[in-house]
Amino acid sequence: MIIVTRMDATIAMIDRIREHVEACGVRTYAVDQGHPGRVVIGCLGQSDGLCASAVRDLPGVEHLTEWRTPYRLASRAMARNGGCTVVRIGDGERAAAGGPELLVIAGPCAVEGRQMLRETAHAVRRAGAGALRGGAFKPRTSPYAFRGLEREALLLLAECRRDTGLPVVTEVLDPRQVEAVAEHADVLQVGARNMQNYPLLCEVGRVRRPVLLKRGMAATLTELLLAAEYVMTSGNPDVILCERGIRTFETDTRNTLDVAAIPVLRRETHLPVIVDPSHAAGRADLVTPLACAAVAAGADGFIVEVHPRPEAAWSDGEQSLSPHQFAELMTVVAPFAAAAGRRLSGSPDGAVREGQAA
Ligand code: PEP
Ligand code: MN
Repeated sequence: MIIVTRMDATIAMIDRIREHVEACGVRTYAVDQGHPGRVVIGCLGQSDGLCASAVRDLPGVEHLTEWRTPYRLASRAMARNGGCTVVRIGDGERAAAGGPELLVIAGPCAVEGRQMLRETAHAVRRAGAGALRGGAFKPRTSPYAFRGLEREALLLLAECRRDTGLPVVTEVLDPRQVEAVAEHADVLQVGARNMQNYPLLCEVGRVRRPVLLKRGMAATLTELLLAAEYVMTSGNPDVILCERGIRTFETDTRNTLDVAAIPVLRRETHLPVIVDPSHAAGRADLVTPLACAAVAAGADGFIVEVHPRPEAAWSDGEQSLSPHQFAELMTVVAPFAAAAGRRLSGSPDGAVREGQAA
């Protein structure tokens, strides 16, 4: 059940409505819908025991509606100020998902060592990336493949953040790693293979770090939003959704980028949506066109794999861009950003790169 309050409802009336509902064992979540100032109270959990007519008669209540979707906190009905949620990243003012600037995250699939990470971090920063990615704990299909430098990689990522000012994004695979990863990373990535790992979703929901939640390779958008709901209902409202390609019958690409997911999610949720063209394509030559398509379709940003020597990468080299190719991508994507009414973030020197072709 959703309770919509009257415009003139006072804070005391809203508190009273929430107390009434919570006394029936139902959690409430209130959002201010902003202009012109209505408050919407979402009732989470089984509201069967709630007597609708008793709620309707409370002072300050305008009307009640039923949830239209199985996800609740993630649904558009719970949008603050009726708009889109902006998820801020790191301590600086620079990086955010869902604001006027696109969030561009770039870096290697996996952290392979200090030198390659530094080289990549400086290069992507110069090209205008707003955050650095790099896997420390890698989910690999084969147990014999390189599975990450683990704690050493976390320390290297933190070192690169100090050097470049770029906030860092890294994957967490296991609920037991969440605390250690959150200590060093600015954003916790939950990968496609873990989108429905419910203990992990609950654990990342308990920390104060934004979560980059990737769509499972065979997950519907409703399932993705219900996974986001796990994080949010555990206490963390800062979820960034990521479309990273789904499995289809096509074999020329690693996955199929579901471009339609972007406008569908835009309609269904207030959470920001970014795209991973690297894992969608599986091929470096397709990364730039897919990033352009994502931005044109209204994505809030993209996450791209960049490696100083893609041919020598320990993982995902075929889909990794060289630093030079990444800089080119940023130039090619700029007019698409402008057409979508978005800006590309600039260098930390303060020079904001307008989403306009030079
Ligand atoms: C990754 O980002 O390196 C990764 C493993 O992504 P995904 O979970 O989308 O496969
Ligand atoms: Mn990868």
